Amino acid sequence: MNVYDGWRIAAMLNAHGLHQTTDVADADIIILNTCAVRAKATDKVYSALGRIRLAKKPNALMGIVGCVARESGADAFKRVPDLNFVLGPQSYHKLPEILNDPDTRLFNIELSGLEKFDEMPKLEKSPLVTYVPIQEGCNHCCTYCIVPYTRGREISRSFADCVRDTEMAAKTGAVEICFLGQNVNGYKYTDENGKIYRLSDLIRAAAKIDTVKRIRFTSSYPTEMTDDLIEMFAQEPKLLPFLNMPIQSGSPDVLKRMNRPYDLEQYLGIVKKLKAARPDIQISSDFIVGFPGETDDDFEQTLQIARTVKYINSYSFKYSPRPHTSAAIMQDQIPENIKSKRLAILDAELNEIQRAFNESCVGKTLPCLCEGVDKTGRHLVYRTPYMQQCIVACPAGDAPQICNIEITAANKASLRGKITD
Ligand code: SAH
Repeated sequence: MNVYDGWRIAAMLNAHGLHQTTDVADADIIILNTCAVRAKATDKVYSALGRIRLAKKPNALMGIVGCVARESGADAFKRVPDLNFVLGPQSYHKLPEILNDPDTRLFNIELSGLEKFDEMPKLEKSPLVTYVPIQEGCNHCCTYCIVPYTRGREISRSFADCVRDTEMAAKTGAVEICFLGQNVNGYKYTDENGKIYRLSDLIRAAAKIDTVKRIRFTSSYPTEMTDDLIEMFAQEPKLLPFLNMPIQSGSPDVLKRMNRPYDLEQYLGIVKKLKAARPDIQISSDFIVGFPGETDDDFEQTLQIARTVKYINSYSFKYSPRPHTSAAIMQDQIPENIKSKRLAILDAELNEIQRAFNESCVGKTLPCLCEGVDKTGRHLVYRTPYMQQCIVACPAGDAPQICNIEITAANKASLRGKITD
């Protein structure tokens, strides 16, 4: 979502006559679009600001937007007195105001809802893979998570707006559509006539567009995988056979304390239904290790579930206490050294599973999407339907956007292959 918001912020400032630079010393305005999900992300913002202050032109404007702005609030100005603006994730569209009056301080961390979607310009040219935000915020209130505080309660955009943005993205160059939301599969919009639209309706609408070849969505909450959505994996070949469905922990006790009220049986039941709908589907997960009170036995259950589901690509994190969350004040916080040890063990396990899956792809032919040229300029980088990177030698003529690739080699991180058509 931050990548997408970054594009829109750049497009908005373009309309005000500015263009993008990656050189801090050259910039007239420096914007840090931030994530607050773990303390490390927030710390990085403040240390980056320290470096930027020294490198920027004296009159360049500098500020933070996004979740750290909302997390820190007016304290951000105390920590970094020369900040010019602090705008929360739902106030990006107010950014140009600072250009009108560079001597004021712009501050807005309100959760105003959907205003920004309409006020920010649409992209004139869409990347091959384009994000379409359909929902923002989250009502789940997992006890570790700052997102409900920073992004607010769940709101779904209107079905008509989402379809219009999807069509616009396709018309301006998108081949793959990724529907976005913090709780994307909770998407629910009721129109004036009382008709309810779900994510499955949006997938169906996107699949009807000829030039849209691949569809996916992120990120999902396990128990919001309703049957209509699971059915889409059987009905819509354009929906990629890959789903990020974070379990977070394999221990029922820890899940309870995380306020993720599903049990393993329920979770595995959803995986089973997904496999029945689309036998080649693969799942990835997010994991948190070292949640308050996590015992060795709890952690062992997390390893166990990873082996059972065989997640092909996962994100794993050490639990990080966050302000405005109830887990931060729970008893039995786990010492850092134990968190690190558990993370290393889990990562080794997940890497092995990922390597085994990648190796199992060798000899198969997969339809892939071209993402561009690699650093050497001699290879093309493609994405498989499972989001694996696949490197192929540059063909003599134009590189096909979408083509079948025979996988010839694999390691943990990527695949190699050759274009077969
Ligand atoms: N559904 C959310 C997930 C947000 S964060 C969204 O897309 O916005 C992504 C992942 O970060 C979570 O799935 C979780 O595994 C991890 N995470 C969230 N809060 C965390 C915390 N306090 N400490 C460590 N990891 C955390």
